[in-house]
Amino acid sequence: MKAFRKELTFHTSKRREFINITPYVDACIRESGIKEGLVLCNAMHITSSVFINDDESGLHHDFEQWLEKLAPEKPHSQYRHNGFEDNADAHLKRQIMGREVVVAITNGQLDFGTWEQIFYGEFDGKRSKRVLVKIIGE
Ligand code: ZN
Repeated sequence: MKAFRKELTFHTSKRREFINITPYVDACIRESGIKEGLVLCNAMHITSSVFINDDESGLHHDFEQWLEKLAPEKPHSQYRHNGFEDNADAHLKRQIMGREVVVAITNGQLDFGTWEQIFYGEFDGKRSKRVLVKIIGE
């Protein structure tokens, strides 16, 4: 069995942003040389997510609105976590959007359903943050 590990770094210009990271994960699979196996992809921070969904801008707008209803960013004073920090909403948003995804690799390709794409969900951006890609297989 082979194993491959790589960290991807993202630095968003906005506090909240969704980035389609599928091409980066694809590149990791090619670099690993693994044809049959599994890829794990997880956010290495507790205020960002990795999740699978559709690459459709209307849906991304809907996610943003829905998350803001569930855990509005402001007022910052509504959260006990906010004192030294102002990112309580980002912790809550990350929790519901998830930490990681696992995808099968078949014939050296991501074995996706029709519309599946991998996204990095940033909820407290404007700084460099990391995503771990771990691939095992042969
Ligand atoms: Zn915090």
